[in-house]
Amino acid sequence: MERRLRELDWLDQTYGMGAYGQPPPPRRRSSPASGVVSLVVVAAVTVSAVFAIQPQIFPDRVHDLLGTTPERLLPARDIPSGPGDYSFMATQADTGEPVGYNPCEVIEVAINPDGAPGDHQELVETAIARTSEATGLQFELVGTTEDREFESMSMDDPVLVMWADETEAPDLEGDIAGVGGSYRVSAYGGGRERYVTGFVILDRDAYEDMRSGDIRQAIVDHEFGHLVGLGHVDDPRQLMHERGGFATSYGDGDLAGLAELGAIGCR
Ligand SMILES: [Zn+2]
Repeated sequence: MERRLRELDWLDQTYGMGAYGQPPPPRRRSSPASGVVSLVVVAAVTVSAVFAIQPQIFPDRVHDLLGTTPERLLPARDIPSGPGDYSFMATQADTGEPVGYNPCEVIEVAINPDGAPGDHQELVETAIARTSEATGLQFELVGTTEDREFESMSMDDPVLVMWADETEAPDLEGDIAGVGGSYRVSAYGGGRERYVTGFVILDRDAYEDMRSGDIRQAIVDHEFGHLVGLGHVDDPRQLMHERGGFATSYGDGDLAGLAELGAIGCR
């Protein structure tokens, strides 16, 4: 059975959260400018030296205040130069860079097992492994949840994976086998946008009917592609084709887009 795959375009909107969990930028003193600069340099060098000896006593907050770069959890992937197409769900208004998750933070994922097929954990673990491998983003499956409120998530919620029908998730109506997307926030009301959490919802009836293990997995992988920021392409060699194309795993274009999504800066 071929079922259509698609994302939730309506979710592709900016939430007007101001602070994004970060302290406001420190005020600069107006004068003397040279004195301020040398003070910052000295402080950074001093802390770096101590840091090398006893890294555990300095919280990440110290990094932020000094303006040094937070560290990625996994290495960025080389962006493959295959012939395939890819697109992004959203890009930064000023630079055109894709909107993605912070590669310096773990993306937590929780599964609601109510109505899920018996192989749900394996499906999600495989999708996480493949998407992490392609992006260099680190996921953690934190367990199960009773939460089903995918339309009103808070930014601290883990990504929600669940199986539902069209009564609960109207976007599953017809031959739609899954929906996926993420909520984005922008720092300071006008800064770079970033995904903070999201959801993947699979069609319960479709998973009762489908026998092909490859297609069962491909639909979850496709929705994880949306989750981290990939949009649809017309190229049928790519898993992010609207109907899944000929592919049952990420193609060259998908992998290039995923690598680019995972290579964005941590700020
Ligand atoms: Zn899709």
